Amino acid sequence: MVVVRIDLHTHSTASDGTDGPAELVSVAAAAGLDVIALTDHDTTAGWRPAAEALPSGMRLVPGAELSCECADGEGGRVSVHLLAYLFDPEAPAIVAEQRRLRDERRTRLRAIADRMAADGLPVDADEILDRLGPDATAGRPHVAQALVRAGLCATVDEAFAGYLAGGRGYYVPRTDTPVTDAIEMISAAGGVTVLAHPFAFGRRPTVPPEVIAELAQRGLTGIEVDHPNHEPDARDELRALAKDLGLVRTGSSDYHGTNKTIRIGQETTAVEEFEALVAQSTGAPVEVG
Ligand code: AMP
Ligand code: ZN
Ligand code: FE
Ligand code: FE
Repeated sequence: MVVVRIDLHTHSTASDGTDGPAELVSVAAAAGLDVIALTDHDTTAGWRPAAEALPSGMRLVPGAELSCECADGEGGRVSVHLLAYLFDPEAPAIVAEQRRLRDERRTRLRAIADRMAADGLPVDADEILDRLGPDATAGRPHVAQALVRAGLCATVDEAFAGYLAGGRGYYVPRTDTPVTDAIEMISAAGGVTVLAHPFAFGRRPTVPPEVIAELAQRGLTGIEVDHPNHEPDARDELRALAKDLGLVRTGSSDYHGTNKTIRIGQETTAVEEFEALVAQSTGAPVEVG
């Protein structure tokens, strides 16, 4: 039997990964993956260079990870990430919302870096944004890299733990998309949606099962069950929930190059689940090398 290895959540330099989109495809091929999704934060800029780099027979699922906010089931709101796949990248509502989020992320990066500089930390917002270039999606990992370059932290993880995580004093929030709007927008553009790392350790508070059930009614297609930040009991709970709600179950690495210690293909998706996702989409094709 041919083993098909599928990783549906990766980041390139189009957002906060460290491999360029073409390089990421090569890294995936070298790791023995047959199917890879590119899911940069709030951008589709990496789709074309990644597709052009596909070796023969390898498949690319074009995607994005959308920054959203969601009901927390207790009258408040909680931050969630929504993986969107196979949607029309030219749908005007998506183009406009991604542009708004990328602009806001730049303003936010500047606010974080300026606040650090005012406290005497060796970071410079202009330098970070220059390195990033005009099109890439800005994120906290870019500030973390600056802290590493300055020798203040040994690793990106350390920079998050000491300075950038929520509650660390330098955290600046964003105005993210209501997740139900994002699901509708992606569905209307022929795409499918998967709730990313819903029970990720270290990113509490998380979205409760009752709210995931509501999202399923609003058109959510799947749940990311196997993720490096999910403990075994979280995976069991999510697998059972997805089964109850008739949702697709995915597994993925959330690879970010050297910004994280995770290996590409460290978590994978079953071929039947991948096929179920593709079968529900009409917006953009799976690219085949
Ligand atoms: P932002 O999009 O600016 O809110 O930053 C979130 C990004 O930082 C996500 O891609 C996370 O995967 C990444 N991230 C969050 N916590 C850490 C950490 N402790 N170490 C490395 N990357 C992290
Ligand atoms: Zn990221
Ligand atoms: Fe995420
Ligand atoms: Fe991610």
